[in-house]
Amino acid sequence: MILHRAPFVVPVSRPVIIDGGVLVADDKIIKVGRFKDLNFESAVVCDHPETILTPPLVNCHCHLELAHLAELGQKSGPENFTGWVRELVAIRQEKVDDGLAAAARELAELEDSGVGLLADIGNLPQSAAIGEKSRVRVIFFQEMLGLAQDAARENIRLLAKDSRKNFTAHAPYSCAAVLLKAIKEKARQQRRIFSIHAAESLDEKQFLSDASGPMRDFVEDKGAWDNSFVAPGCGTINYLNRLDILDERTLCVHCVHVSEAEIAIIAAKKAKICLCPGSNKFLGVGKAPVSMILKQGIMPGLGTDSLAGNLHCSIWEEMRILSRQQPDIDPALIFTMATRGGAEALGYKQYGMLEPDNKAAMLAVSFKQGREKEVLEFLTLTGKDIRIRWIR
Ligand SMILES: [Zn+2]
Repeated sequence: MILHRAPFVVPVSRPVIIDGGVLVADDKIIKVGRFKDLNFESAVVCDHPETILTPPLVNCHCHLELAHLAELGQKSGPENFTGWVRELVAIRQEKVDDGLAAAARELAELEDSGVGLLADIGNLPQSAAIGEKSRVRVIFFQEMLGLAQDAARENIRLLAKDSRKNFTAHAPYSCAAVLLKAIKEKARQQRRIFSIHAAESLDEKQFLSDASGPMRDFVEDKGAWDNSFVAPGCGTINYLNRLDILDERTLCVHCVHVSEAEIAIIAAKKAKICLCPGSNKFLGVGKAPVSMILKQGIMPGLGTDSLAGNLHCSIWEEMRILSRQQPDIDPALIFTMATRGGAEALGYKQYGMLEPDNKAAMLAVSFKQGREKEVLEFLTLTGKDIRIRWIR
């Protein structure tokens, strides 16, 4: 048994422990508490001075295969959401590079920053291999698009053919209703998470309202419009609910343009939310109503989205942006989003908290100030310059 001792332990499941310890054996956490209550004779003490011990971070939404398009995320923000999508599609088609090397680098950086669990969305089948050998637990989702009937039908055929893959839908504006339902049904049968970009931009809202606007123009320009799409005339969450897509294994990513009634639907269905404040800020799509989401008892997770639409790929930066935008939110809640919220959203409760029986993997965060009341502010406000080391 090893007893890791630090001036501060942040188990997430309970308040900060001063002069705390985490007792581990056989890759599992045995006990978490005050050092003096855990100091058994049989345990070897491993001291971590000037340190905060925390669970690993969880990144609930990322596109590793777009890492080689980071130049797009380094430009000044786009004029509007659909303009960015147009640029993304164009630059992606031009690239000869398959992006796998950049994706592997990004994953290594995420691991170095303390991410232990990651949801990775990709369109290319070969992207499934990016995280296979990583010590980060990567859940790969093969994303489908298909708004026109032919494209939807072809994807439904693929769904039936391959039972091993974890298929998911891109967005309600890029998938026909029949395809959304088919992908969700398959995920439901397999008891897997169904992740979807939801209520991200005003362009999406307009398209669902009456099939008009910049999104309609884009779809037509791409030759993906065939008149079969019937605008539901409501918000994204209402639409997904009407299609019977929301349940405890549905992860709604972004949720910027959601009404209070729609958040109530998400809460009632026990569906999950992933917030992406950095991407939302970069793309200028607005801010998610975080206080309203928390008020309805939902603990969201955090996601970086892709480097093509965000300046950074760092959950520490996501926390910092959210803390700056919403200073009224308790930093303990923001740190919970980055850990437990994300783990629960992805159905991996063994991550996200320092609790008995959970994996003995944790972060040692350098913290020299040493004052208890500053611990959570430090964790949520420092951003990517924070210094961490893995204990595992
Ligand atoms: Zn995304």
